[in-house]
Amino acid sequence: MSTPHTVTLIRGDGIGPEVAAATQLAVNATGVAIDWTVVDAGVDIMEAEGTPLPEKVFEAVRKTKVAIKGPITTPVGFGFRSANVELRKILDLYANLRPAKSLVGVKSKFTDIDLVIVRENTEDLYIGVEFAQNTPEAAAARDFLSKLSGTPLREDAAIGVKPISEFGSRRIVKFAFDYARQNGRKKVTAVHKANIMKFTDGLFLEVARDVAQSYPDIEFEDRIVDNMCMQLMQKPELYDVLVMPNLYGDILSDLTAGMIGGLGVAPGANIGENGAVFEAIHGSAPKYAGQNKANPTALILSGVMMLRYLGEGAAADRLQQAVADVIAEGKDVTYDLSPAGVTPVGTHEMAQAIASRLNP
Ligand code: NAD
Repeated sequence: MSTPHTVTLIRGDGIGPEVAAATQLAVNATGVAIDWTVVDAGVDIMEAEGTPLPEKVFEAVRKTKVAIKGPITTPVGFGFRSANVELRKILDLYANLRPAKSLVGVKSKFTDIDLVIVRENTEDLYIGVEFAQNTPEAAAARDFLSKLSGTPLREDAAIGVKPISEFGSRRIVKFAFDYARQNGRKKVTAVHKANIMKFTDGLFLEVARDVAQSYPDIEFEDRIVDNMCMQLMQKPELYDVLVMPNLYGDILSDLTAGMIGGLGVAPGANIGENGAVFEAIHGSAPKYAGQNKANPTALILSGVMMLRYLGEGAAADRLQQAVADVIAEGKDVTYDLSPAGVTPVGTHEMAQAIASRLNP
């Protein structure tokens, strides 16, 4: 027997533990040998551990290099930054991959969507360099920036900083092209607002054009982000892999998730040079926590991405097909997917239905 893959399962909070258990069940049913390290993170362990993201979670992920995680609530006003952002930062998971592919049986205004968003994960307005209104720091930043730019800034303005580097842009655009090549994709579109942000988004676009030269087998074009949104609504079939800075990627990936029927079915991955963390786009949906109600599809499809990353392409294909079949049949699906007149099943039962397609 081949050596098992080592994977950390971060259960998360809210609906996290339920969708995580469902995913472990479905991934195990493929027969791929996985040695799981199960750890907890999130608000449920904050009191006992003093932090939503204890060091042992990082230790486990550093050791296994690959993790799949349930969502984690970002506590408001506790002085903690988002555990998700911290994980991405500490492990330098610079690429956020968010595929959006239509599934038969999921209600949506769009059909046949097959798009992949590649979002830069470490820079842009998400870097966290911000100064609150009416603070000496904001005043100093305004003063400095006004003098430097010759543009007066209002006294009651808060200030945020948008760093876009050549290094960060080059590695994310390269990632998008490599992904396109390895996955039989035909085109990469760089999304930006370089007409207005000439130096930050301008640099991103310039680097994208330069990187594109090394991939003559993949078509390249660019779109301004507002136009991109309209085009996606009108002619999504023209697009394939879309690469963009952090903020546009965050927004556009929710847009494309909406196009395939919503957050319950939208998977994702955060990938770096030394590891990867797979997670659904959706959050911890606290109102459904502990009710065996949440749709496990998004995290199970993140598990499909993880199997591909681990080199288990055939198992990934089988699991993806099992998910598609169960949804298309519409019998063993959660409340958000069940056709009119059909009684929905729970999170666990949907995962069991998927697993039983793999192990009849
Ligand atoms: P959310 O995605 O948790 O929920 C929004 C709504 O979407 C839910 O009320 C529910 O109706 C629906 N929904 C989401 N996932 C579903 C599923 N699997 N099955 C069925 N319905 C589902 O978004 P939110 O309410 O904005 O965020 C809640 C918490 O999650 C916040 O603290 C936020 O910071 C956090 N969050 C975490 C992650 C992550 O861990 N990666 C991502 C986004 C948000």
